[in-house]
Amino acid sequence: MKNICLLGATGSIGKSTLDIIRANPQKYCLKAFSFYNNIEEAKKIIKEFSPLLVSTPKKEHLEVLKNEFPNIIFSLDINDVARFKVSSPCVINALVGSAGLVPTIEAIKAGRDVLLANKETLVMAGELVMRLAKDKGVNIIPIDSEHSAIFQILNDNNRKEVKRVIITASGGALYHKTLDELKDVTVEDALKHPTWQMGAKITIDSATMVNKAFEVIEAYHLFNLKLDQISTIIHPESIVHSMVEFNDHSIFAQMGVSDMRIPIQYALNYPHHIDNQVSQELDFTKPFELHFKPMDKTRFKILALVGKVISLGKFYPVVFNASNEKLVSLFLEGKITFDKIVTRIEEEINKTEELYGHLTYNLENILKVDELVKTSII
Ligand code: NDP
Ligand code: MG
Repeated sequence: MKNICLLGATGSIGKSTLDIIRANPQKYCLKAFSFYNNIEEAKKIIKEFSPLLVSTPKKEHLEVLKNEFPNIIFSLDINDVARFKVSSPCVINALVGSAGLVPTIEAIKAGRDVLLANKETLVMAGELVMRLAKDKGVNIIPIDSEHSAIFQILNDNNRKEVKRVIITASGGALYHKTLDELKDVTVEDALKHPTWQMGAKITIDSATMVNKAFEVIEAYHLFNLKLDQISTIIHPESIVHSMVEFNDHSIFAQMGVSDMRIPIQYALNYPHHIDNQVSQELDFTKPFELHFKPMDKTRFKILALVGKVISLGKFYPVVFNASNEKLVSLFLEGKITFDKIVTRIEEEINKTEELYGHLTYNLENILKVDELVKTSII
């Protein structure tokens, strides 16, 4: 029995994780979870799963829940979920944005393996997080479907023979729009992802292709690759979740329907592929086609920029992540047009050395730069 500590239980990845727990009560038990705004969903989760600990940074929500559920431990510090002491602990980080970084670090410090959906953790601080995980002897197990695909293909025997990884991208909601047309895109248009149902931020990140740039950074850290070993291609069907090419040009692809419960379940059972009670099979009884197209880095400029962000390292990825997070929320609030997200990210990245180059690279300054970038963008 694995005792699950789930950060971000009320979100898209959180709910998919709960589906798996619900379908396998003999294997998993939800012991602790965190949420942010969605108190109604939190109440439902408490009633269904009877966890021992529930956490939210929102004091007003905590007061309400304390009265309704007197036998549960409540905490305002979501890090308590990350380091909760239970037997056979399994920490899943399904938080969105920079809020996910410190809980990942706290889980690692507590000696827990981390099943990581929160990609911002590795974008902001991949170097620091991977080093800490190595020092503590814990595993970072990717949930992001592309990285799960690569992780499923690699093993101790073939890891040193990798020529490159090929990360697939659906193209997002606005793939067929020209750069000129992006000015007039509405929030509703940008939120219509063609193949995946996800939270709002990652859906916008997919439309700008920032999500793919983030995934290049994730792959760089997770699999210890060089920049020229990571390519991205367009694959509109989202059936091939990514590929690994070995030195002899043999290419392995991991395939399946677009359902995050497959990579989540694999992360929960790594390195085993056990029966899946909740996801569909890929249906080969009907004809279907798979398409692959080269990535156009003029149209998706952020993928040309990500190489610079990775090579310069240190605070460059922090500025990239923070500016994106703030600009996406401004777009969702209707305060900037869609095309401004990427152009303003580039402006912020170009200021990194001048504004933050003097700072020592450590967690405190990573969090400081995150905050400074977000407050400076209006
Ligand atoms: P959602 O927005 O659906 O869920 C985010 C979760 O985090 C919710 O539980 C939310 O609480 C909580 N939360 C939000 N802000 C804060 C905060 N400041 N402090 C504490 N908790 C907070 O996101 P997704 O599930 O879509 O994505 C989660 C992560 O997984 C992201 O990093 C994303 O990029 C990555 N990912 C997601 C995929 C997907 O299919 N959704 C695929 C691959 C990666 P509440 O809802 O109560 O407000
Ligand atoms: Mg992905």
